[in-house]
Amino acid sequence: MISRIDRLGVEMPPPSEPDPAGAAAVQELMGGKFGEMSTFMNYTFQSFNFRGRQSARPFYDLIANIAAEEFGHIELVAAAINTMLTDPEKVDDGKAPEAALAGLKGIGNPQHFIGGGRGALPQDSMGNPWNGDYVFASGDLVEDLLHNFFLETNARNNKLKVYEMVEHPSARALTGYLLVRGGVHQVAYAKALEHLTGTDLSKLFPTPRIPTDKIPECKPHIKKGLHATLYRFSADDYVELSAIWNGKHPETGDELVVEDGPPEGALPNDLPPQPDVFAGDYAPDELAKLVKKLRKAAGLPNKPTGAVADA
Ligand code: MN
Ligand code: MN
Repeated sequence: MISRIDRLGVEMPPPSEPDPAGAAAVQELMGGKFGEMSTFMNYTFQSFNFRGRQSARPFYDLIANIAAEEFGHIELVAAAINTMLTDPEKVDDGKAPEAALAGLKGIGNPQHFIGGGRGALPQDSMGNPWNGDYVFASGDLVEDLLHNFFLETNARNNKLKVYEMVEHPSARALTGYLLVRGGVHQVAYAKALEHLTGTDLSKLFPTPRIPTDKIPECKPHIKKGLHATLYRFSADDYVELSAIWNGKHPETGDELVVEDGPPEGALPNDLPPQPDVFAGDYAPDELAKLVKKLRKAAGLPNKPTGAVADA
């Protein structure tokens, strides 16, 4: 089971200038072959299907635990796309049935507006739906780990290209963080293979040649040691991943550490309604009145109990 925390893995900037074309490019990191839906589902299915896990516990724990982190990465990619699709000026009248969306014709992915409410989709940068064929779970531990190493390697390749293509602050904050976290997973799978077979994949580093120590959006995370930290996303379980995640980082020489619990992360931004696509604008006054009534009847406080960044 997965327990959910209503925070983002890292702080994301609030909406500014919308960037629909950039949002379409960032979709590759969501539903692309090497996107976060793929990393999440690959490790999830490998952990579901893992046989003989008691005799291979550290490897099972590693894969199952990284799967949990990947869920949060999907959430972050969605937050970045949604922020980039938000027009803070469009909070009033969408002017339908006039040409409220005409300015978006030919820019980015039309489905962001026609199929969704300026929201992220489970698609790649070309609008192709994410595909279950992207999941490799053979049951052979060496093959699965090798596949995961390759997957993380390409995921970082794609993240750097999106970084270079999209200058929007949300895309930069996203890719800066994910490049560092992807590096952790890449090293984790390399170390797992080394423990299992003696193969020294660290000789392949850095692959691809990404100078994360020179990327401004990566630097603060490296300074905090996130490149050498594996979070344990469980109160009591997956403790044996420390049998793999130990020793020195192959590139920086820093000590590898397991941190018990998820990252502290940050509160999400509460993105405003976008009436031009009818997203979140159902009878606002009526809804507010209804929620007030429901809250009172349930014995809840008058104010929302959940927290957002921009409250
Ligand atoms: Mn990821
Ligand atoms: Mn990863």
